[in-house]
Amino acid sequence: MGLYNIWVTEKCNLKCTYCYENNKSAVSMSDETVRDMISFISERYDASDYNMINFHGGEPMIAFGRIIDIIDTLSGKGLVFHYSLTTNALLLDEEKLKMLSARDVYISVSIDGDKYAHDMCRKKKDGTGSYDEVISKLPLIKQYFPRFRIRMTIAAALSDRLYDSVMSVSQAGADVIVAVPDLYDPEWTYEKIDALKYQLLELDQELNSEGTVFVFYKKPDICNPQVCAGGIEEINISVNGELYPCSFVTGNRKYIIGDVRSGISGDLLRKFSVFYGRTNPVCEGCGREKICTSSRCKFINAEFTGDFLTPSPILCGFENMMDSLERMKLNIMA
Ligand code: SF4
Ligand code: SF4
Repeated sequence: MGLYNIWVTEKCNLKCTYCYENNKSAVSMSDETVRDMISFISERYDASDYNMINFHGGEPMIAFGRIIDIIDTLSGKGLVFHYSLTTNALLLDEEKLKMLSARDVYISVSIDGDKYAHDMCRKKKDGTGSYDEVISKLPLIKQYFPRFRIRMTIAAALSDRLYDSVMSVSQAGADVIVAVPDLYDPEWTYEKIDALKYQLLELDQELNSEGTVFVFYKKPDICNPQVCAGGIEEINISVNGELYPCSFVTGNRKYIIGDVRSGISGDLLRKFSVFYGRTNPVCEGCGREKICTSSRCKFINAEFTGDFLTPSPILCGFENMMDSLERMKLNIMA
């Protein structure tokens, strides 16, 4: 697999309460960086791989022209990629949707639930909520992307509204919903995490019968293999062309592994790849170790605990809740 996450811009037209991009400088990728990045990607291209490019931001639609140029340049060179992007939808219009659809770009729209939940987190620069504007775009989006995806971020303070939030976006026309808890939120407690289980059970029963795809917690779009491939099969390219092994640490120069001009430094990558596939000492003997995010995602461990081989207690709490939920589902089916 060849997966590239490209930060085309750090600019955004929203100021979400949980956004890690808020403190970054508001710049977009320069012409020169785009040119060097295309050479870098082209040199690594292997037609026998599954090749994917995911456009990140900021709000990627602010750099819409850039995105189209990158896709058209790569396809002009005969390179075949699957494309995706996640957008807050505010800048989407029919013309842009037509252009994205013609290039087969898979669209995810960020909506955090019903109006109350969404407006509490996803605010415009003037402090007002963005829900009404986003929701008004969904019929047009659905016209061009019938299976578009909703990407929900779940804040701890809104965890008791998970069921209502998911049902609300489902009723707004989404058939694919991915809800991911904000792991950086310091308000998560084991009680709050455990309380999600009953809402998730209800959602499972409700949405399955409607044929909606609903995924909670695990991000199916990041990395599925159980051993991290950061810097090997997955490359994250920051707005200034620096290379990072994981989307969670992109822009944090502690984790830099090269840049689009000089390529990946084997020495820098080895500092991190030595941890890939290793068992976390505290996880030895845990029944969930084979599928737990902390076993695979050493950068997430490092970000939360400062140690590549020590999982965050909150992440462990989510894994245990999911384990208990899966057992409850099996009991219901038995
Ligand atoms: S559930 Fe907790 S103890 Fe088990 S593997 Fe995951 S982080 Fe480690
Ligand atoms: S740490 Fe996890 S999310 Fe990051 S690159 Fe590795 S597998 Fe992907």
